[in-house]
Amino acid sequence: MRTGRHLGVDVGGTKVAFRVESEGEDPYEVSFPWNERHSATADLAQLADAVGGLRARMGGGTDTGTGTGAGTGGGFRAVGVAMPATVDPAGRVLTWPSRPEWTGLDLAAALRGLFPEAAVGWADDGDLGALAEAEAAGCDRLLYLGVGTGVGGGFVADGAICPGTALGSFEIGHVVVERDGAPCVCGRRGCVQAVASGPATLRRASRLRGTDVTFEALRTGVVQGAPWALAALDEAGAALAAAVVSVHELLHPRLTLIGGGFAEGMPGFVDRVAREVSRLARDGGPATPVRPAVLGGLSSLRGACALARSL
Ligand SMILES: [Zn+2]
Repeated sequence: MRTGRHLGVDVGGTKVAFRVESEGEDPYEVSFPWNERHSATADLAQLADAVGGLRARMGGGTDTGTGTGAGTGGGFRAVGVAMPATVDPAGRVLTWPSRPEWTGLDLAAALRGLFPEAAVGWADDGDLGALAEAEAAGCDRLLYLGVGTGVGGGFVADGAICPGTALGSFEIGHVVVERDGAPCVCGRRGCVQAVASGPATLRRASRLRGTDVTFEALRTGVVQGAPWALAALDEAGAALAAAVVSVHELLHPRLTLIGGGFAEGMPGFVDRVAREVSRLARDGGPATPVRPAVLGGLSSLRGACALARSL
């Protein structure tokens, strides 16, 4: 690890998490929820206040925590930021469905203003989740999928994000697994996210059961072996397995890890994906091992720190 203090920032749709790593000290983590959606300017002011508070907590001495983001008392050598938004290589936000007010924001300039003393980098939260999971699993060639409100993930090759932030993020959620499948938020049909995200699976379960199905109801149905619940989950598992197998054919990961809130909370879900991946194995194309992710909801934040250390 390079010496100095490193900050990881996980920017989510509803909250922001910080993790500070310093040599010889325990990591420090803190988070805050976003205020009501208002404007990108208001969000950035809230972020600056939180960074000011973090600097004051970290630095002692010269920084007064005024929220300007300036000051050196709580300085960082490097800052890595995990973003759920699509950000172009120049650092401008192209799209963020959770906070559309950020569209067009010059993220690079905003981060330079917040952290003038530091090297700053940002990347897709799925890419960074993969980076952290690869570190935690001790695997330098790894596919990671996060199944929650969407389907995200990343691929790590030789210990680095693939294809790399200069080219774009690893958008496994928009790999097409059903040409005539359900409409996706991106405008196409049959993306794995449109079939296998948490909300997509709950919608299918509701159709099969004939009444609204919550996450808890699906979970109970799966545990009790209700046919509608198992069928809804099997479809999601089959879509994810198709995407995993397709990636395997092209990039040959040594290990596939599946995390995200939906996958973690649904009993046996990862095993279902693993079984389907095994079923799809072919001569010369053996199945990649599929296991639950290691870091749970922390993977993007830990990956943001890993990015900071690499800068
Ligand atoms: Zn899509």
